[in-house]
Amino acid sequence: GRDVKGLLKRNWILIATISAVILGIALGVLVRDYTSLSQLEKQYFGFPGEILMRMLKLVILPLIVSSMITGLVCEGVAALDSEVSGRIGLRAVVYYLSTTIIAVILGIVLVTTIKPGVSQSADNIERAGSTPNVSTVDTLLDLVRNMFPENLVQACFQQYKTQRKEIEPSKTNMSTSNTTTFPPFTTIISTVAQNLTKDYKIVGSYSDGINVLGLIVFCVTFGLVIGKMGERGRILLEFFDAMNEATMRLVQIIMCYMPIGILFLIAAKIMEVEDWEIFRKMGLYMVTVLSGLAIHSIVFLPLIYFVFVRKNPFTFSLGMAQALLTALMISSSSATLPVTFRCAEENNRIDKRITRFVLPVGATINMDGTALYEAVASIFIAQLNNYDLDAGQIVTISITATVASIGAAGVPNAGLVTMVIVLTAVGLPATDVTLIIAVDWLLDRFRTMINVLGDAYGAGIVQKLSKRELERMDLTSDVDVANP
Ligand code: ASP
Repeated sequence: GRDVKGLLKRNWILIATISAVILGIALGVLVRDYTSLSQLEKQYFGFPGEILMRMLKLVILPLIVSSMITGLVCEGVAALDSEVSGRIGLRAVVYYLSTTIIAVILGIVLVTTIKPGVSQSADNIERAGSTPNVSTVDTLLDLVRNMFPENLVQACFQQYKTQRKEIEPSKTNMSTSNTTTFPPFTTIISTVAQNLTKDYKIVGSYSDGINVLGLIVFCVTFGLVIGKMGERGRILLEFFDAMNEATMRLVQIIMCYMPIGILFLIAAKIMEVEDWEIFRKMGLYMVTVLSGLAIHSIVFLPLIYFVFVRKNPFTFSLGMAQALLTALMISSSSATLPVTFRCAEENNRIDKRITRFVLPVGATINMDGTALYEAVASIFIAQLNNYDLDAGQIVTISITATVASIGAAGVPNAGLVTMVIVLTAVGLPATDVTLIIAVDWLLDRFRTMINVLGDAYGAGIVQKLSKRELERMDLTSDVDVANP
C-alpha cells in the first residue's frame, strides 16, 4: 500500500498527463461528433492548450541562455577546462551523427522492403497545401549564418532566412545593341544565356522563432571566455547558475499545469482534423514511418545505451516518460526542452554539466526521428512517381536526409520543410511534399518524440564516457555530483 502511494505521489504529473491525453481524445471525438462547433469555436476550445504552449516557449530562452553559459564551465570557475569541454562536445557530436545515420539507414531499409508507395500512384493522393521554397545550399548557408547572429536581442525572437528572387534579364544589353547595326557577338551570347538560365539573387529576411543555434554558439563561447577569466568571471557564472536553477523551478510550476493544457490541446486537434479518410490511403506509409521510429527507439537506441552504459535502458526511457509524452503532444523538441531537462536530471540523475550542453544542442541538431522520416518519405514519393532510384541516389538520400534533419529547427513540421532538400537532390519534384502534408501533423508528433529520446540517451552515454573527467573535476570543486 505504501509503495503504491509513494509511486503515485512521485509520478502524479505523469499519471495526470496520461489521463489527460485519454480524456482529451475522448472529449475531442465527442464534441466533434455530437456538436457542430465553428472553426472559431474550436480554436477557443483549445485556449488552455495555447496557454501551455506559451508558457513552455517562454522558458526556453532563459533556460538555453543560463544552461549554455554555465554548461561547459559550470559549478566553480576551475571546474571544466577547455580541453575537457572540447572532449565532451566532441563525444556529443559523434553520438549525434552516428545515431542519426543509423536512423536514416533503418528508414531506407524499411521503406525499400515494405514499399508503401509501389502499389499506388501519385495521382491517387491529392496534393494539399503549398510547397515550401528552399534549396540545399541556401539552407546550409542559413544554418551557418544563424550561428553568427548579427544582433543578440533579435536572435531571441527571429531567425535569418534567405529566399531566392528571380532576376529579370537586364535590358541594358539590348539598348546598347540598338546603337550598332550588328550587336556584338558577346551581347547576343549573354542575352541568350540570360534567357536560358534564369538568374536569382538571394534576399535576406527574418522569420519568427528563436534563433536557438545562434544563441547556443554565442552562449557557449561566452561561457568559455568567462571560465578563463578566473576569479573575475566567477560572479557571472554564479549569476547564470542561479538563473538556471530559478528557471528550472519555474518549469516545475508549469508542469503542474501541463495535464490541463494537454487535455484541451489534444481535444481541439481531434476536432480540427477533417480528413480521416487520408489515413486509410496513406496507411502503409504511416506504418513504415512508425515502425521505423519504434525499432529505433525500442531496439537501436537502447542497445547503444546498454553497450556503453551497462544499465537498463528501459528504466532510462521510463524516466523520460513525461518528456516523451510532452513531445508527442506538442510536436516541438525545443518547446519540450524544459521537460527534457527535468526528466534527465531528476529521474535519470544525469550530471548537470552534461545535460546543460548535450540537451539544448541535441534539441536543435540531433533529430533521429526526423532523419528517419525524411528518408522514408522521400523514397515513398519516388515510389509513388514510379521513379527508380539507383545506388548513388540512395546514398544521396542518406546524406541529404542527415543534413535536412540537422537543418530542421525543433518546431512543428520543420522536417517537412527541409525535405525539399532531399527531393531536389535526387531530382524528384519538390512540389510533391504536398502529397504527405495531410498526415504530417500525426507523424510529426512521433518523430519529435524519438528526437527527444535520442537527445536523452545521448546525455546518458556522454556522461558515462566522460566519467573520469567529471570525477577528476569533483576533486577540485565542492559540487555534489548526481550519482548515476
Ligand atoms: N517537429 C520536429 C521537432 O521539433 C522537427 C520535425 O518537424 O521533424 O523535433
